[in-house]
Amino acid sequence: MERISVFDMLKIGVGPSSSHTMGPWRAAERFARHLIDSGRLDDLTGLTVELFGSLAKTGRGHGTDIAVLMGLSGADPQTCDTAQITPTVEAIRARKMLPLAGGQPIRFDPAADLVFHFDQSLSYHPNGLRFTAYFGDADSLSATYYSIGGGFVVEEGEEDRAESTRLPYPCDAAAHVLDHCARHGLTIAQMVWQNELAWRTPDAVRGGLLHIWATMADCIYRGCHTDGILPGGLNVVRRAAGISRTLIGDAPYADRLEWVEAIRARRPVFYEMVKWVSCFALAVNEENAAFGRVVTAPTNGAAGVLPAVLMYYVCNNPVGDDDIIKFLMVAGEVGSLFKKGATISAAMGGCQAEIGVSAAMAAAALTECLGGSVEQALMAAEIAMEHHLGLTCDPIGGLVQVPCIERNAMGAMKAITAANLALVSDPHDAKVSLDAVIKTMWETARDMDAKYKETSEGGLAVQIPVNLTEC
Ligand code: SF4
Repeated sequence: MERISVFDMLKIGVGPSSSHTMGPWRAAERFARHLIDSGRLDDLTGLTVELFGSLAKTGRGHGTDIAVLMGLSGADPQTCDTAQITPTVEAIRARKMLPLAGGQPIRFDPAADLVFHFDQSLSYHPNGLRFTAYFGDADSLSATYYSIGGGFVVEEGEEDRAESTRLPYPCDAAAHVLDHCARHGLTIAQMVWQNELAWRTPDAVRGGLLHIWATMADCIYRGCHTDGILPGGLNVVRRAAGISRTLIGDAPYADRLEWVEAIRARRPVFYEMVKWVSCFALAVNEENAAFGRVVTAPTNGAAGVLPAVLMYYVCNNPVGDDDIIKFLMVAGEVGSLFKKGATISAAMGGCQAEIGVSAAMAAAALTECLGGSVEQALMAAEIAMEHHLGLTCDPIGGLVQVPCIERNAMGAMKAITAANLALVSDPHDAKVSLDAVIKTMWETARDMDAKYKETSEGGLAVQIPVNLTEC
């Protein structure tokens, strides 16, 4: 059975989409290395990239073409300077040359060599892409990859290869989490900590998770201090900065840490806190839509829910590093249960697989951090998903903007409500278990019409006429 670390569920990268940007980016990096390892670069006469299914249908709005060019050029989405993405892509388009993995320039004309197959899908997954290199002796080298959600990528032939690290507490379902925790007297976070040590040292786990939180918080701060119009041609106005300015008033602050302290010092009353949570979520997803650095949690389209709820927790409680680590570990575990039992890919399950899963992750994490039991944390995750079941994916213009950005604010508020409900409930009275809702989500995903699964062929996407110009 699949083994998934919290660092697989929470990955630092670039917006706007984990499946349509991060996945293709990583696939392109892999093929570039594969091509270099073949030792045949001097004989290379051409390279084509073909996008299939959902990657073709919403690829332009989701930046799939840009991601492929950046990946082939060897840029790392975790560390690259996001301000250099547009100049790099413009230079490739103008010169029709690409520095393969940052090295030898090869001929590549995106207008001709990057092909969108709008009418073709590959059988394994709706998000397929194929790279083919051609050589002087009429030979070729080809590889097909699938971006299966949350930035995860598999190459054709390795689809069913599961990661095999032996964990002290392996969990394929919520029932396993409950069982391990009950038998060994552990919280979810304590159980996850022991599992993570199978992959990394304690310092690496702590440091990595605190780095993830710093990246999330920086993203919120940047989004709360950036005005303007989002790219893509839909002319969506950024709102987080205006909301933040209105709420913080004349409180002085110099940087992100002082800004958070200023928010905490104002002791926001309920209606102000509701606005702050929306503001935090909007900030992240405005950054995401603008090709900013975000943390995939569990996807980029839903990247705002978890940071918004964690920042809400930070602003309302005496929170230290250990609490933040605990929050992220519980969130990662719950996200992995959905990946194993259903899907975190909108192309497979609609938006319930993105915003629904992120809300479930945040709800469980907040519940455990506020003192809830293991049963209450899993109950919170169940409540959060229960009220996202059936949510479709229908982004206007194929951009991760409308309804995506506001949907993160809604998901964050539902997560907080789910946590509060679970904290005052007896889980033994619950009528639906987390495993039952995961199964229901997967069945709903399979019943959902394909036009509501990240194709922009149904729902809001066809109600709102848009005439997007490339940017
Ligand atoms: S509608 Fe939901 S699933 Fe679809 S792109 Fe937007 S956030 Fe992602």
